[in-house]
Amino acid sequence: MSSVPHYRVGIGTDLHRLVENRPLIIGGVRIPSSRGALGHSDGDAALHALADALLGAAAQGEIGELFPDDDGSLEGLDSGEILSEALRRVHAVGGKVVNVDLVVQLERPRLLPYREPIRRRIAELLQVPFSRVFFKAKSGEGLGAIGEGRAIAAQAVVLIEGVEEKEERE
Ligand code: MG
Repeated sequence: MSSVPHYRVGIGTDLHRLVENRPLIIGGVRIPSSRGALGHSDGDAALHALADALLGAAAQGEIGELFPDDDGSLEGLDSGEILSEALRRVHAVGGKVVNVDLVVQLERPRLLPYREPIRRRIAELLQVPFSRVFFKAKSGEGLGAIGEGRAIAAQAVVLIEGVEEKEERE
């Protein structure tokens, strides 16, 4: 029998257009801003990237399949529900979240003052200690769609443990 720990990594990315008259919600936290992310749900790019990272680590699909953007009933959906569904699927295959790391690219506002509330909210949603969640914000340096304030992007990586190898159950 192999003694290799059952660790899995996952990666997720997301991109949303920024427009007037939309709330800006990042990592489940409402950020004061004149522009927010256009999207079918609440447009939380950070939680979408994280949900995809979780699903990928557990080989359980992707959020576009679970929450199709042509499903009218999902209009304005709280992305915390998307993340919670991804977490349920990780748990269903025996997985536990070890840690997550997130990067959000946004020209303004600067997000450092919101880092701790975002970490706390994500830790709460993932049911893990605060110390297992980190969040970084990067500007677009004035370049491209992000730098011109027309888009927000997010990247997430996650490590999970405990997913059993299917082959070992057979
Ligand atoms: Mg998205």
